[in-house]
Amino acid sequence: MLSDDIFQYSESLGLPPNSLGVKESIVQGISFFKAQLKAVASTTGYEPSPTNEGDMNISSVLYQFPTFGPWLKKERNRKWSEEANYYFYKNIVAGFGAGPGDKDYLKNILQYYDCSSGNLVGGGTGKYIIPVDNPIVSSGFVDRINPVTGQREQHKGLDFAQPMNSAIKSADDGVVVFAGMGSNSNGFNNYGNVVLLEHKKSKEWTLYAHQNAVSVTKGQGQVIGKVGSTGQSTGAHLHFEIRKQQWGGQIDPAPILGVTGK
Ligand SMILES: [Zn+2]
Repeated sequence: MLSDDIFQYSESLGLPPNSLGVKESIVQGISFFKAQLKAVASTTGYEPSPTNEGDMNISSVLYQFPTFGPWLKKERNRKWSEEANYYFYKNIVAGFGAGPGDKDYLKNILQYYDCSSGNLVGGGTGKYIIPVDNPIVSSGFVDRINPVTGQREQHKGLDFAQPMNSAIKSADDGVVVFAGMGSNSNGFNNYGNVVLLEHKKSKEWTLYAHQNAVSVTKGQGQVIGKVGSTGQSTGAHLHFEIRKQQWGGQIDPAPILGVTGK
């Protein structure tokens, strides 16, 4: 079974192995890695660059073998080299009775570590922008008669009436959780072409439904699709949601975006 604790951090917290979930593991792993970069700075005497391979080798090694730092400082004049690398694997690692772990460790870290900000990838600003130009709210976050089914329902988002194919922009930097045609099997039935983004900073999700075409990126304000009328929809509009949970907990976006609901 694949471990949920992808950074293998449970033991470091004194917990049984694999007791952290994926998200907790990433947060713990990244925060430890950040601390490790600082430790590298005290070992090498300079701030390591997350984009420099040599620096990252040191950081990766120290991540798992912190005691290697003083040796590197004393014996190798703070320098990482092929020779130091060989010595490390031949002598230091053997002394631990274990290898340096998964060879994809560093790749895993950098997948979630934003080199420019030093934060988690997709952290975002914590503030949302309005995802369409000329926002006209055609349906607010209210109880209403569903125009397709005729049933009374709680409308769990904002509808922005828009010209067909106008741009939909991400409300904040985020990680793409889902992008594609909604269906019963993926949990997005009636949403048509839909994008769900996760925002680490606000610990929320935003959803963009009924798109004519999906073209996903992650940065705030970048175009993630075109307005359409796919799914359960009677005309071109963006159905926009802010969610407190991935699978629900919708809240009214109108006051957050500073637009007037209807
Ligand atoms: Zn709607």
